[in-house]
Amino acid sequence: MTNPKTKSSTQTSQKSNRNGARRRVAPRSIYTKTELQEMFRRFSVQRPEPKGELEHVNAFTLVVAVALSAQATDAGVNKATRSLFKVADTPQKMLDLGEDRLRDYIKTIGLYRNKAKNVIALSRKLIEDFGGEVPRTREELVTLPGVGRKTANVVMSMAFGIPTIAVDTHIFRIANRIRLAPGKTPDEVEEKLMRVIPPEYLFHAHHWLILHGRYVCKARRPECERCVIADLCKSPEKSCDVPAPLVELPPQVIGVAE
Ligand code: SF4
Repeated sequence: MTNPKTKSSTQTSQKSNRNGARRRVAPRSIYTKTELQEMFRRFSVQRPEPKGELEHVNAFTLVVAVALSAQATDAGVNKATRSLFKVADTPQKMLDLGEDRLRDYIKTIGLYRNKAKNVIALSRKLIEDFGGEVPRTREELVTLPGVGRKTANVVMSMAFGIPTIAVDTHIFRIANRIRLAPGKTPDEVEEKLMRVIPPEYLFHAHHWLILHGRYVCKARRPECERCVIADLCKSPEKSCDVPAPLVELPPQVIGVAE
């Protein structure tokens, strides 16, 4: 009995979870509430205003950019979309551009043929089913060609300010490695993160965790000596207990793509 509207309220309702008592006795985080507060407070000091690295000018171009970014770097996508969005920043203009010319704009991006097909198809669907506007709910967003749950979460958060956690490879790894929200699937991790992250930090948590994973808690070898949560972290893999100095990071450390 999941109410589709509960997603944004789950973060504020560990006690009032609509699944009742059964849900409340679900395993809690191994981190205490105080530790969780402190962890995310530190991330917020490091990166007060984290931004997604995908350039876009409106909700539609964000959907397109995210759809193009699968298995590609944000920097690579930005390079291609900078000129594309000057000529096609609405679904109708994208249709007018057509698949062949769209392909030319994005041919430096991996899987571009398939992605061009999807972008044209999703532009058509936006016009036919949504009056040319990008819908705001996950249920509607995932009906667009090439848009999965992860893309929908990114769009809801970045375009409409609805807190979500789009679990990518970095978030999935960190959630399991540091046992913040262990889970076997991205959906399981997402659901747990929505419950354990303090509500006031939920909106930016997605970016903080991605960037932490990209630059510090890296896949092969976490750089624990550079980590601001080294004292709090409960990962068996950690190699250092002393937290790195907590300072706001310069923009170039925040915004460099992999
Ligand atoms: S201490 Fe190491 S393992 Fe823990 S979050 Fe930091 S970088 Fe990752």
